[in-house]
Amino acid sequence: MHTIHMSDLYGQYLTMKDEIDEAIQDVIKSTRFIKSGKVLDFEKKLSEYLDTNVIACGNGTDALQIAMMALDLKPGDEVITTPFTFIATVEVIALLGLKPVFVDVFSGTFNINYREIEKVISSKTKAIIPIHLFGQSSNMEEILKIAEKHKLFVIEDACQSLGTDYIFSDGTIQKSGTLGHIGCNSFFPSKNLGAFGDGGAIYAKDEKLASIIRSIANHGMKAKYQYERVGVNSRLDSIQAAILEVKLKYFDEHIKARQNAADFYDKQLKSISKIEIPERVNYSTHSFHQYTIRTGKRDELQAFLKSKNIPSMVYYPGALHLQEAYQYLGYKKGDFPITESLTETVLSLPMHTELPEEQQLYIINAIKEFFTSN
Ligand SMILES: *Cc1c(COP(=O)(O)O)cnc(C)c1O
Repeated sequence: MHTIHMSDLYGQYLTMKDEIDEAIQDVIKSTRFIKSGKVLDFEKKLSEYLDTNVIACGNGTDALQIAMMALDLKPGDEVITTPFTFIATVEVIALLGLKPVFVDVFSGTFNINYREIEKVISSKTKAIIPIHLFGQSSNMEEILKIAEKHKLFVIEDACQSLGTDYIFSDGTIQKSGTLGHIGCNSFFPSKNLGAFGDGGAIYAKDEKLASIIRSIANHGMKAKYQYERVGVNSRLDSIQAAILEVKLKYFDEHIKARQNAADFYDKQLKSISKIEIPERVNYSTHSFHQYTIRTGKRDELQAFLKSKNIPSMVYYPGALHLQEAYQYLGYKKGDFPITESLTETVLSLPMHTELPEEQQLYIINAIKEFFTSN
């Protein structure tokens, strides 16, 4: 059997090699490397796919930072999010002098427990950042209701949920990341739509907000060499955009491949009483950026899988409220028990668009073997 990968970027590239190689050559021949050519083409196509305005930028972290700058959040303002996410979400809040205020997550979905949000809203609260972790949306209908009631902004960290559909209770369907005031995405290579390097995008339905975002990402520029606000330099380059444009054509197929692999894992693993498979909700599809199980024997299982050449990853091994850099926020162990317990029980299994059933069966049988003697 071939090597089992957590995520198979080269195997996926080979399925589109001719088109990707040609697109890269086109960029080189055109010499339109920055803010032109393929970047504009790709922005347009992603904007059609999502049905919102799309501004490409340097990476997902920048997307989050620019989102908060565009909403004019000021030092001391409070932003509600969860301690069970990638550090970038919290880092940019802190970097802008804003105060991260944490709310725990639901153990089954890993997403923000919206029932806890109102308890931490203060006169300084300005925004909520739900993270649609591992590819399934947070309960946006409930979050939007709370935000409207308290006049708060909602910035969706949709870095892991491109391709996910949100299903409103009236049946309306909308792409994940386009429900809040601003949505943020990453094209980090292993993300649902991955570049061959860094990349990111910001979504905003509101035209005025979209133009502010575009200006901030471009040094705060209004017209050539005229600056209307303090900005940053954050761009997607044309070679990455060219690759992403090709991959976007196959994106729905790729999401389907992830969902099929997840269904197969679900079916085969659900009978094992000592593990919990990922919870599915009725208000969101799941794009399975990660397929993450929970088990009290996490470390032993991971070591056993490793002995069988099966990779697996722990996303995330440390709760953010307990990280050294964030001690100044004053949180302590025990403050977010669900997050703390997840850091000790979650395990993400190999999940990508090229995962053969034969490999999945090998992984599943190894897990079954482990639990017959543990
Ligand atoms: C990947 C990721 C980011 C950051 O994206 P980069 O492109 O790596 O800067 C932010 N939030 C979440 C939840 C992510 O998964």
